[in-house]
Amino acid sequence: MTLAPVLSRYWDQPNSWTLDSYLRHDGYQALRKALDGSPDAVIETVKDAGLRGRGGAGFPTGLKWSFIPQTSADKPGDGKPHYLVVNADESEPGTCKDMPLMMAAPHTLVEGVIIAAYAIRAAKAFIYVRGEVVPVLRRLQTAVAEAYAAGYLGRNVLGSGFDLDLVVHAGAGAYICGEETALLDSLEGRRGQPRLRPPFPAVAGLYACPTVVNNVESIASVPSIVLGGPEWFRSMGSEKSPGFTLYSLSGHVTTPGQYEAELGITLRELLEYAGGVRAGHTLKFWTPGGSSTPIFTEEHLDVPLDYEGVGAAGSMLGTKALQIFDDTTCIVRAVLRWTEFYAHESCGKCTPCREGTYWLVQILRRLEGGTGTEADLTKLLDISDTILGKSFCALGDGATSPIMSSLKYFREEYVAHFDGNGCPFDPRRSVLAT
Ligand code: NAD
Ligand code: SF4
Repeated sequence: MTLAPVLSRYWDQPNSWTLDSYLRHDGYQALRKALDGSPDAVIETVKDAGLRGRGGAGFPTGLKWSFIPQTSADKPGDGKPHYLVVNADESEPGTCKDMPLMMAAPHTLVEGVIIAAYAIRAAKAFIYVRGEVVPVLRRLQTAVAEAYAAGYLGRNVLGSGFDLDLVVHAGAGAYICGEETALLDSLEGRRGQPRLRPPFPAVAGLYACPTVVNNVESIASVPSIVLGGPEWFRSMGSEKSPGFTLYSLSGHVTTPGQYEAELGITLRELLEYAGGVRAGHTLKFWTPGGSSTPIFTEEHLDVPLDYEGVGAAGSMLGTKALQIFDDTTCIVRAVLRWTEFYAHESCGKCTPCREGTYWLVQILRRLEGGTGTEADLTKLLDISDTILGKSFCALGDGATSPIMSSLKYFREEYVAHFDGNGCPFDPRRSVLAT
């Protein structure tokens, strides 16, 4: 499979983030086309294309939009305002696709927001972005100001009679605020903690009104789908995972970065474009979709990176964050580092995750330091089992993925840590042994 640059096709052009540059690359043509048709027609187009949410879960985007009461002259709806919220709080470890997209081509997202808001009959939209990534925040604010000045936002968009206000909101840097209901709480001014679902946001979201929450890449893909049509989109990828997508490669790879390709490309193929694992080393393990997804090893190099392929191989496509680790990496240290992240970011609302991630860190620290025991490996699995499926939100489940999968593939490396000599990758090990 080859690369398929659609969203990233002009990211390397000078000043690609400006409105002028976007207009030279078919910018806002999709919006004109969408406004010429009905909101329902836009929803049908996105449904027919089969676009699946790019935030990690892969839920069909058009289907999500169709859950919003379709208020119009002949369909009165429920009388409540509708909201569109873009989840730009990208924070899954290893995930770096939405931030580069917003830096290089913020108008792709802004145009997608306007089309999506038109489709779901929303007059107010929000982009919830990580506040600490100030350059992205500034770039979005500039793009939104340009769009207002050009008549793409505000009252009577392009003379269509459709009104839309778009607010860029800066979050405060909590991983949990990427969970859609915690994000909504945060947007409403409360401490960000997940809400019970159902009701899903499509039924009761922002201010208890029907709300679509979509990932940046999902929304940014909409203009090209509207312009190119569902058949063009479906000519890429597979039947159940159609289209193009952004994969982020990081870690021990020669050329890390964003690679846009058809869904279903393999890591072996992507590594060819990225110059392979860094010189002189071999692949040890990797994540298909960020650290919340079970790790893969060299034996998974030819797994199609789409929802079905990765699922059948025992993991999840998630955020398509391919973190590459070579033969110099200590698996216990890597898993400890990830688990410390989850323990730090646990919002504390539910006991299995709050207490469980704390104890996982204590045990992993012992193991990494060479003072663990065989019983600790059993405890790791016991605690993971207590968290998995029993936590309030996906953060708890995600925390167990690196532990359970690393014990499946690298149990002997854990054991090697408590054979008396500490970490096999510690250069001081031979000294410690004497
Ligand atoms: P989910 O499968 O519960 O929901 C996915 C989406 O579909 C949500 O918007 C939800 O509201 C909607 N939905 C699901 N069922 C519905 C129904 N019956 N009616 C209406 N809407 C429905 O997944 P999730 O818990 O929202 O997200 C988990 C994913 O988040 C993981 O797969 C992980 O990869 C990803 N993630 C991403 C990041 C990031 O930085 N992008 C960070 C952490 C986790
Ligand atoms: Fe909070 Fe963790 Fe429970 Fe999610 S699983 S609600 S992050 S404590």
